[in-house]
Amino acid sequence: MAAREREVEALALAGGRVVAIGTSVEMLALAGSGTRRVDLGGKRVTPGFNDAHSHPCDAGVALLTQIPLEMDSIEAIKSAIHTRAAGTPPGEWVVGFLYDDTKTPRSLDRADLDAAAPDHPVIVQHRGGHTAFVNSRALALVSITENSPNPPHGEYFRDSSGRHNGRVAEKAAEAILALAIKPPSREDYRKGAALISRRFASRGITSACEADGSPAILQGYQDARDGGELMGRFYTHIDFAQLDNMMAAGVHTGFGDEWVRVGAIKLFADGSISERTALLSEPYAGLGDYRGISRASRETLYEQARKAYLAGWQVGTHANGDVAIDTILGVYEQLQREFPRRDPRLRIEHCTLVTPELVRRIKAASVIPLPFAGYVFFHGEKMHFYGEARLEHMFAMRDFLDAGIKAAPGSDYTASPAEPMLWLRSQVTRADASGHVWGANQRITIEEAIRCSTVHGAYASFEEGIKGSLAPGQLADLVVWDHDLLTIDPAALMSVKPERTMLGGRWVYEA
Ligand SMILES: [Zn+2]
Repeated sequence: MAAREREVEALALAGGRVVAIGTSVEMLALAGSGTRRVDLGGKRVTPGFNDAHSHPCDAGVALLTQIPLEMDSIEAIKSAIHTRAAGTPPGEWVVGFLYDDTKTPRSLDRADLDAAAPDHPVIVQHRGGHTAFVNSRALALVSITENSPNPPHGEYFRDSSGRHNGRVAEKAAEAILALAIKPPSREDYRKGAALISRRFASRGITSACEADGSPAILQGYQDARDGGELMGRFYTHIDFAQLDNMMAAGVHTGFGDEWVRVGAIKLFADGSISERTALLSEPYAGLGDYRGISRASRETLYEQARKAYLAGWQVGTHANGDVAIDTILGVYEQLQREFPRRDPRLRIEHCTLVTPELVRRIKAASVIPLPFAGYVFFHGEKMHFYGEARLEHMFAMRDFLDAGIKAAPGSDYTASPAEPMLWLRSQVTRADASGHVWGANQRITIEEAIRCSTVHGAYASFEEGIKGSLAPGQLADLVVWDHDLLTIDPAALMSVKPERTMLGGRWVYEA
């Protein structure tokens, strides 16, 4: 991924960085008596992958305390909830996560959860993080009756008879989660960060953007790093709600070092693709006139973005639907007009559904899109809600690259798996798990896909000077793969595994 050399045979490393690249003969000539020589047996090496938008720390903390419901059977989910409830004092919350309503034959509902745990309030979070499923006790605890109106920027979904079916979205879900989840301890955050960083390293991911952090999460990464347990580098966005605290501490984007760094201020414009709450200009297919959910007005987004921007922050705004993207792009354009600033690298997190005009404006404003890397493959069974024509403009990697835009894809883990081979497969083939191709016009090559998840990921966090390639001067973050991902049939990419992962010159994972 270095600018000049397409690929090289050998690397020389020192002090945690790459110091030279070339042929084996050239590199061996640099070796001294104390030099370790490692023969990788001709295996393919790439820079460590960068998950440019994910939620590792929260996922790690959830793994410690909540029920993982990554299951395709309603009965299995009910049984897992029932078992957890049996060991939980009556009246206390039972919380699940990683559920995906389109991976089960039908969606989980309030009656399922009432049956599984009649004496406990239950909330099951969708793996996408914008919707959840609750039982009657949970609704009663937040005083929601059949007559309660939807809160601003949120929704309580109903069945055909008009009763709450237990599905809640956006601000409605957030209000219940705030009651259900006890604030994790400092120790929980440290353990969560360490746990997920180890998993990421085992998948070949050495860097990630923590896409919605807080001072507590920042500290969790720092504690894990101090304890020698952090197996990756984390660029940590800070939720807007914490901006005042961060400003009081006198820090902004870029503060930190190559292990833990303060990222952008995170804003939200709309809902989610996997949960069908993204704000679209045309209705979802098969859902009547429903067009998704806005999470903030333009006025609010402008005020929030302006405050962060003027305090020296990068801004990263979650926007999936074309309506939401148009809104936040307008805010970014206005800010750059009113307060010109050199190279602010304003980000649109996800930036899923675009138009040629939006792509042109994104390029003109030097905005960085952070599209979902693996959704066509992993969430393929949801794509019919968007339809063939719209998919030609979703996760629009070809359009971004052709326009010269440095798009940096991410998993949004837990929303989809943090698995680089799944990302490559999805972007190169645009095929879902059943083989159906969605938006073939947006295919990119395997080399482009690797570049987007390494070089572009580093650019999105202002770190292209230290990582993303294996050029001299860059951090020695690399992955040795067991098969050659550049020559394998793209449909077989998921069989390619990391053999070893190196972080800063040290092996942190060995199969
Ligand atoms: Zn996210």
